[in-house]
Amino acid sequence: MMMRREPQVAAGVLYLVATPIGNLSDVSFRALEVLKSVDAIACEDTRHSRPLLDHYGIDRPLIALHEYNEDSRSARLAERLLAGDSIALVSDAGTPLINDPGYPLVRAARAAGIRVSPVPGPCALIAALSASGLPSHRFTYEGFPPRKSSARKSFFAALKDDARTLIFYESSHRVLETLRDLASVFPAGRRLVLARELTKRYETLVDTTVGGAEALLAAAAEMRLGEFVVLVEGAPSTAATAVLTPQQARILGILLRDHPLKTAVALTVEISGARRELVYREALRLSGREGTSVEATD
Ligand code: SAM
Repeated sequence: MMMRREPQVAAGVLYLVATPIGNLSDVSFRALEVLKSVDAIACEDTRHSRPLLDHYGIDRPLIALHEYNEDSRSARLAERLLAGDSIALVSDAGTPLINDPGYPLVRAARAAGIRVSPVPGPCALIAALSASGLPSHRFTYEGFPPRKSSARKSFFAALKDDARTLIFYESSHRVLETLRDLASVFPAGRRLVLARELTKRYETLVDTTVGGAEALLAAAAEMRLGEFVVLVEGAPSTAATAVLTPQQARILGILLRDHPLKTAVALTVEISGARRELVYREALRLSGREGTSVEATD
């Protein structure tokens, strides 16, 4: 992979700078360079970002950009960017816009043709997923579940059959109730990983199940403290229950009359675009050889 080094900030660029989610050493070298060089830093809470910036000797002007003012302030920031100022956006922790302010600003900047450049780094959901041991090739990030129990249950019900790994954020105030509602909707045996206080002193990653998670937290008060990412294994794949369309099955049936099974399967796949394993399974069934392995028919 080609790496490039581009240390200087450019005029009129909005930088989205990821900052640590707990461990101050997780800030990237480039993040510090950008933060030191921009004309201004937009941050969610100046009182929160100041210690991080002081720690690294960064004294650029700060502009507060939070959920209550970001609609109005984003237009002003876009004007500054158009006038040639470079601005970095940081949030209280992790990657801006991931359950943090910044979307109106990025949208305004891109609509105005301003260059928006990410300075990637920590993100709790990615850190949790990478260490969870749950499938990571397909996942869905669903943010914070709704606060009210009835809305939360409906929210979980809509995700119950999703085959992807499910990722949620949750605070210590609601984690127990959220796990309880999750258990009322999802099958008890589904794997669940609780990732708590990542990169911090009491970092904990617990492997449990949907049915066992609430009891686990209820039994240990210290386990309910801090910040949480909740990850749930996806529903079993539907591949085992998928079937051919009637048209695909008809093509296969016709070809099986005059061709060996392997040829009929290959031709059906080529003609109809059906999935090879489904065609094989159906071919074995039609020819009365169910239970035979695919290799055995080659
Ligand atoms: N922008 C952040 C990111 O990139 O992950 C997320 C901000 S969101 C307002 C805060 C939530 O992220 C917390 O309530 C928790 O669910 C999760 N979170 C943040 N830091 C965490 C950590 N160190 N360990 C576990 N979860 C964390």
